[in-house]
Amino acid sequence: MRRITIFGATGSVGQSAIDLIARNPGAYDVVALTGGRNITQLATDAVRLNADIAVTCYPECYDDLRTLLTGTGVACAAGADAIAEAAARPVDWALSAIIGSAGLVPGLVALKHGTKLALANKESLVTAGPLLMNTARAHGATILPVDSEHSAVFQALVGEDMAAVERVIITASGGAFRDWPIERLASATLAQASSHPNWDMGQRITIDSASMFNKGMELIETKEFFGVDPAMIEVLVHRESLIHALVGFNDGALMAHVGPPDMRHAIGYALHWPERRTLPVERLDLAKIGALTFEAPDHARYPALALAQDVMQAGGLSGAVFNAAKERALDGFIAGRIGFLDMSRVVAMTLDKMSSAGGLQNADMTLDNVMETDRLARIRAGEAISQMG
Ligand code: NAD
Ligand code: MG
Repeated sequence: MRRITIFGATGSVGQSAIDLIARNPGAYDVVALTGGRNITQLATDAVRLNADIAVTCYPECYDDLRTLLTGTGVACAAGADAIAEAAARPVDWALSAIIGSAGLVPGLVALKHGTKLALANKESLVTAGPLLMNTARAHGATILPVDSEHSAVFQALVGEDMAAVERVIITASGGAFRDWPIERLASATLAQASSHPNWDMGQRITIDSASMFNKGMELIETKEFFGVDPAMIEVLVHRESLIHALVGFNDGALMAHVGPPDMRHAIGYALHWPERRTLPVERLDLAKIGALTFEAPDHARYPALALAQDVMQAGGLSGAVFNAAKERALDGFIAGRIGFLDMSRVVAMTLDKMSSAGGLQNADMTLDNVMETDRLARIRAGEAISQMG
């Protein structure tokens, strides 16, 4: 029986994974499930999947989680260290579906144990791509992309030679504000930014889709995961979200991955890799869909894209600054402290300040350096928010 762990089990991606796992009772030995404040969900899933342990990242939720799990045979723990300890429990496959750079440490710990890591947590690749990829190599571990675009690229590359790849194109729906006049964006509200035209996702990534910070992160993720030159990576606006990515080869062929906007495809592909198994996702009727549309991204509407391109070029620890500043700016927008367009201003100001202080490009990419950069960038971004508010 395959032993599996899910980090971020209570989130949108985590719940999609649990849906797949629960459909095959007896196929998996669930070792650990981790979550946050939604301990009722965490405990319910841990009991129904007969997990060894359930861990909440919040120590203050420990007592309630323990109460829910008493007498069930499921152990419980709390805090970031407890999640890292859970990551050290031997498993065959783990899903990294925590949101934010908090996913980095559990991912690294799992890789050090040689685990096959299905990676939805793009923030860890943006923050510390080389560290993550080198850790996987050094320990003979495999990382499987779960972000839909990266899963699509990965699938388009099966059996191909990377030397024949000329370009990698990731698609973007354009998010909630793709048809808004640019002048209105400054006044976009939290509720408006929290609804996605095609995908049903967690709130943070939905807002990041509206600002295209999500696509900016995915550009960096593409560079780090596939090791391609930033100049080869493109974003294409594709409203229907049915083609997730395309790979262009040196003979002019473009291999496109087409599928319904349902994360259970990318999660299921990683779960069964290298095999393909039947998945409970919609089968597309292309004749009914009729037409697919493509547009170049409007850089004035989505300043996050140019910021991400700068970060890809700069490399080093600038990804850690970009991600941390973006997380902090997003907190500021959610809390109503800054406007929608201020998020990219906060990230630009933080990148400027920390790049001019120097050391981002040449510092060693150790976990300590990454965490310190993440910490400092949050402080600088907080200062930028205060200046605006
Ligand atoms: P979500 O907010 O729905 O869930 C996040 C999960 O992480 C929850 O289980 C939460 O309890 C946990 N968590 C939050 N903060 C934590 C912390 N500090 N420490 C430990 N655990 C913490 O997020 P989501 O939309 O499921 O996204 C998860 C990851 O997958 C993100 O990196 C996101 O970018 C990526 N992703 C999501 C989708 C999607 O469809 N939702 C698609 C592609 C990639
Ligand atoms: Mg994606």
